Amino acid sequence: KTFKELGVIDPICEACANLGYKAPTAIQAEAIPLALQNRDIIGLAETGSGKTAAFGIPVIQSLFQSPSSFHSLILAPTRELAYQIGKSLDALGSTINVRTAVIVGGMDMVSQSIALGKKPHIIVATPGRLLDHLENTKGFSLRTLKFLVMDEADRLLDLDFGPLLDKILKVLPRERRTFLFSATISSKVESLQRASLSNPLRVSV
Ligand code: AMP
Repeated sequence: KTFKELGVIDPICEACANLGYKAPTAIQAEAIPLALQNRDIIGLAETGSGKTAAFGIPVIQSLFQSPSSFHSLILAPTRELAYQIGKSLDALGSTINVRTAVIVGGMDMVSQSIALGKKPHIIVATPGRLLDHLENTKGFSLRTLKFLVMDEADRLLDLDFGPLLDKILKVLPRERRTFLFSATISSKVESLQRASLSNPLRVSV
């Protein structure tokens, strides 16, 4: 199948072509059509499977169809992964107007507050620094969020981000879509699933 046959809109197909993506990977072929039908998704996939575009394409397509600031939040366990996701989303959104901000620890709070003040569409963040901003950056809230993605959920929990994830989940609207990606499903990942996804479909490769 092609990206277009999965239901992906032309500008995003064009961005995929520009990236040299000739056909969807297995996880993309499974996850994208379900995500485009507004389902919550649990994706069992490892790095290298193309999981970033599996959640990135539906997020960007939703954004194209109804643009809003603070439309989506991608949570990642490490700074390096957050920057990598930010770069991929910028590339997938290159043919439409997508503003992303990467909000991670170890970087200057003030310049991050300025970036959030510009009302990005997508925030890619590590949990601790995101909470810092939710608590301290005036005018920043996620009350209008449409999409939450938790990437590498097993690593998020192994790094003891569980309590921070609970705090973040409390301030997100219930009316949203949620994607959870993980390489493994442990009992901790399962309880995070129950706390954050509604009637999810599971896809794996
Ligand atoms: P990820 O698993 O998201 O970290 O992606 C792994 C690598 O595969 C990245 O370098 C992506 O740019 C690349 N990639 C993702 N989707 C495709 C695709 N459909 N065709 C070719 N390469 C891809």
